Amino acid sequence: MTTHTEHHYFAGLDLTGKRVVVVGAGTVAQRRVPRLINAGALVEVIAPEATPAVEAMADAGELRWHRRPYAEGDLDGAWYALACATGGEVIAAVADEALRRRVFCVRADDASRGTAVTPAVAEHGGLLLGVLAGGDHRRSAAVRDALAEALRTGVVDESAEAPAPGVALVGGGPGDPDLITVRGRQLLGRADVVITDRLAPRELLEELGPHVEVVDASKIPYGRAANQDVINSLLIEHARAGKFVVRLKGGDPYVFGRGFEELLACVEAGVAVTAVPGITSAFSAPSAADVPVTHRGVAHEVVVVSGHVGPHDEQSLVDWPALAKLRGTLVLMMAVKRIGEFAAVLIEHGRDPKSPVAVVQEATTRGQRALRSTLDGVADAIRDEGVNPPAVIVIGPVADLAPEPRR
Ligand code: SAH
Repeated sequence: MTTHTEHHYFAGLDLTGKRVVVVGAGTVAQRRVPRLINAGALVEVIAPEATPAVEAMADAGELRWHRRPYAEGDLDGAWYALACATGGEVIAAVADEALRRRVFCVRADDASRGTAVTPAVAEHGGLLLGVLAGGDHRRSAAVRDALAEALRTGVVDESAEAPAPGVALVGGGPGDPDLITVRGRQLLGRADVVITDRLAPRELLEELGPHVEVVDASKIPYGRAANQDVINSLLIEHARAGKFVVRLKGGDPYVFGRGFEELLACVEAGVAVTAVPGITSAFSAPSAADVPVTHRGVAHEVVVVSGHVGPHDEQSLVDWPALAKLRGTLVLMMAVKRIGEFAAVLIEHGRDPKSPVAVVQEATTRGQRALRSTLDGVADAIRDEGVNPPAVIVIGPVADLAPEPRR
């Protein structure tokens, strides 16, 4: 392998509105084209055939696909070219025309013979990071991954760019620290203050630097209602003191997480606030236990229900008799304590007592366990097995689909 890194000059091209010609529409083109589109380039793909993904981008109007073989003259007016046709001869012809027209050209067959090479790229909080390894893609990708990870986890200090004060409501996912979003993790890595709660993945806190102030909202010594006011004021006070505050929540901030109350409080106080979606346990706890909340021909609806108040409580906003009429999937959250009451009201209004039920406790953590039962048996099963919150309860035919373990 030839490495020509010393022959390369690094530049950021502004391709907005500029013609970029891509010859070939196979998997290489498919991987490269989205970044060109995002950069605002006018991408023209020339190829007799295309992968479904490239075709979809053409259908969506993100690029123009000329459904024919490459012909001399195609690079007329181009600023940049990618030669990723399957035949070496076509690539050579494209590269040759590019040279004559002084268009920088990337060669997919042998990067070192092109006049440009594509770096392995990562984005991190407004930084664009590119790595070139003289055409050795594996090496550039590996280094790019390591650098991106270092930036994410704060090993590389980018204190030059302090985040603006304000609040980010970050969904931490169901429990496994790997299941937070990339954006959530980036913001966490830049926090001055983290206000966490009981269900947010704890391991994520271990990555924080020593200067980060961590407040555990579940330990604030007030009643439940007062608690939320205290959290809201903490968010606002820290942000007003010039801090970047991450409010780390379990699952998605807006799924039974009171996240929207926090957003409203910040907006009302004039504090900059943003929300980062998270993977909700409503869907990921079942999927972690091989329960699909929908399945073709089995369930065409899924309803997520809070069980934090009983079915006959005057505060309840849930129409349990109506839910009992549904055939699809019910996902009950915060319902372990009162499952007997919920099962009874569902059966009373017509749901089959033998409806399959799956209960998944502490999904995606080391403590994950799941049990299967039926609607009329689940309350006893939960008691007998000692299932404790946090757990989701899935009711419906999907709870019975998991394949038998292979012998
Ligand atoms: N915002 C969170 C839900 C908060 S309500 C989310 O989107 O996931 C708390 C309820 O979520 C718990 O009572 C339980 O029903 C469910 N839950 C949260 N984490 C869980 C986990 N790891 N496993 C099973 N259920 C979980």
